[in-house]
Amino acid sequence: MCGIVGYVGTQEAVPILVGGLAKLEYRGYDSSGVAVMQGEKIVIRRSVGKLVNLQQSLKEKELKGTVGIGHTRWATHGKPSEQNAHPHRSKGCVLVHNGIIENYQPLKHELEKAGYEFHSETDTEVVAHLIDKYLNKGQGLMEAVRSATKEVRGSYALAVISEREPGTLIAARSGCPLVVGRTKQASYVASDVMA
Ligand code: GLU
Repeated sequence: MCGIVGYVGTQEAVPILVGGLAKLEYRGYDSSGVAVMQGEKIVIRRSVGKLVNLQQSLKEKELKGTVGIGHTRWATHGKPSEQNAHPHRSKGCVLVHNGIIENYQPLKHELEKAGYEFHSETDTEVVAHLIDKYLNKGQGLMEAVRSATKEVRGSYALAVISEREPGTLIAARSGCPLVVGRTKQASYVASDVMA
């Protein structure tokens, strides 16, 4: 289990997210990634190995926006690879997850039957598709995250953003640490206080 960070505010998100991830490095990880709301679209960048690889990629091609989430992964389901690195996406909904979804196999089976395609070997991806399923039923992002988390068993800290609600970040936790920080201008979530 590694770390997650999230930011909604008025400043550029990437330096804040990467700064937070650097503070979580001591927990160990095999890949890292960020997702930023860039205009109306969420753009994801992921790298295998050390955080410096992600930093390099972000230097070569900048991601700009004031809402974003970040992740360092310690693989539990699926090998360490760019495809399995977080953030994961289901259409316009993007999330990062720490922990383990114990019932991901039956959930995956159901979602595949409902037409969802999986692009990773992770347990996490089911949560993204579950949230999308509830968004499509007309629920707002917070309600959809709540509905999805009712279906999963296991441990999680989640940070979720959606192209349908560009200024919102929803976080949820059960059995994994997650702290929230708020100022007048911004809100932050992270796996620990240092981040
Ligand atoms: N179980 C998820 C995965 O394997 C999250 C692992 C983590 O907490 O970093 O991708």
